Amino acid sequence: MNKKLRKAVIAGNWKMNKTPSEAKVLLEEMIPLVKDADCEVIACVPYVDICTAVDTVKGTNIKIGAENCHWEEKGAFTGEISTGMLKELGVEYVVLGHSERRQYFGETDETVNKRTKAVLKAGLKPIVCVGELLWERKCNITEEVVARQIKLDLFDVSAEEVKNVIIAYEPVWAIGTGVTATDDQAEEVCALIRETLAKIYGQEIADGITIQYGGSMNDGNAEALLSKENVDGGLIGGASLVAGKFAAIVSAASK
Ligand code: PEP
Repeated sequence: MNKKLRKAVIAGNWKMNKTPSEAKVLLEEMIPLVKDADCEVIACVPYVDICTAVDTVKGTNIKIGAENCHWEEKGAFTGEISTGMLKELGVEYVVLGHSERRQYFGETDETVNKRTKAVLKAGLKPIVCVGELLWERKCNITEEVVARQIKLDLFDVSAEEVKNVIIAYEPVWAIGTGVTATDDQAEEVCALIRETLAKIYGQEIADGITIQYGGSMNDGNAEALLSKENVDGGLIGGASLVAGKFAAIVSAASK
């Protein structure tokens, strides 16, 4: 079973929630609850929380991620944040191509690709989000939509570099809606993502890549989703803002 070769990764995506002082309180609550985790535990937090978050989790098993970044190293890009800025603060992961960024901020596969390459070049690890709209699922084109996103988002990413990429399969209709993909739906698309990766990079490399599921994952459904062969972790929105719920998902991933 190749699943055993891959370390499970549970990442919280806090979105635009928590001020720095609130971030400190939440992380302090989480630290003792996840300290024995047998999986990677990440909190992806708003930019302004990063300093506090990195400081709060120092010496613990929680890693800090950002929720986006720009692809250029520096320059006239008012309001943007570079990989170098994130790295200097102690960030290790960056969420890219989240559906909310695609939906509200004009993110395209081309810009996700540029960001992915910049993040890898900086020695950070991208969590690249892909997933179909409800309309696309209804039209029975989930497979082509997700395969296309993988091919475009990872264009020109080498076999060596892709080992540091995490893919998050996030069906857009399941994000923040309380509607979760069934275990079988999640497994079907995560397996298809692995097949697509295998076509590009070969089976061995594809077998080593962590593929998360995201979309209303919570303490009640995590264990079943995470038991699937190709679901190696979770990207968690709402439930990552409640220490007990997030810790329960981390425990499910540690089994
Ligand atoms: C997300 O923001 O990536 C997400 C999966 O959100 P939620 O868990 O709230 O659906």
